[in-house]
Amino acid sequence: MSADCIFCKIVAGDLPGDIVAESELSVAFRDLMPQAPTHVLVVPRSHHENAAEVAAAEPQALADMFLLARTVAEQEGLEGYRAVFNTGAAAQQTVFHAHLHVLGGRPFTWPPG
Ligand code: 5GP
Ligand code: ZN
Repeated sequence: MSADCIFCKIVAGDLPGDIVAESELSVAFRDLMPQAPTHVLVVPRSHHENAAEVAAAEPQALADMFLLARTVAEQEGLEGYRAVFNTGAAAQQTVFHAHLHVLGGRPFTWPPG
């Protein structure tokens, strides 16, 4: 746990989070400012700064996050979904506890605008 990390606090239950699914290694909760009808963040229970750090330190947690994303998509009845990791401030990462954005329920364009 990292002292000032909001996602660590949501995982620990010290901050409210709209939790939709959980597993041994990760937790899924709704994004505060959803960008799609379904916008859920899947985070590892342990604090790692970004996806690559999860892969390096705890590869099983990274796999677990994608499995929990699939569970969320099934629960939400999504036909398909977009799964995104932003890495670094230049890519709009604003919370430095790794999180997988799971977005669905609306059409998507490619490349993203
Ligand atoms: P990033 O820009 O780092 O990839 O994504 C951070 C996401 O966390 C944003 O989509 C933002 O809306 C969401 N967020 C920021 N603070 C909170 C919070 O306290 N609770 C929840 N549920 N989401 C948050
Ligand atoms: Zn954290």
